[in-house]
Amino acid sequence: MAGELFEKRLLEFTRRGDIEKVKWLENIGKHILPSYVKRIQKKDKSVMQELILPKWVSWELLYDWACTQKIKEGKLCVLCDEYHKVGVEFNGKFICEYCFLKIKNWK
Ligand SMILES: [Zn+2]
Repeated sequence: MAGELFEKRLLEFTRRGDIEKVKWLENIGKHILPSYVKRIQKKDKSVMQELILPKWVSWELLYDWACTQKIKEGKLCVLCDEYHKVGVEFNGKFICEYCFLKIKNWK
């Protein structure tokens, strides 16, 4: 299952008191940008050369973690606070199609 290896490593490092590695894993989302996560999900191993990763971070670990990540696509709707691909923009503010329809129905 996705995320299993990641959890295992995190637990291992926690038990060993390897704070630095624990911290890195807990903040992995800050080290690896969404565009890279997408490529990792597509099994593009060349990201290993592009990213500056600690030596103990293996491809398997990276891939396992990436598979648990949902990539946010589209824009953040100011009303429902979620990411949507389709919507309209009012004065630079994005409103998703669902919220837009709701507003339209109120009138
Ligand atoms: Zn919305």
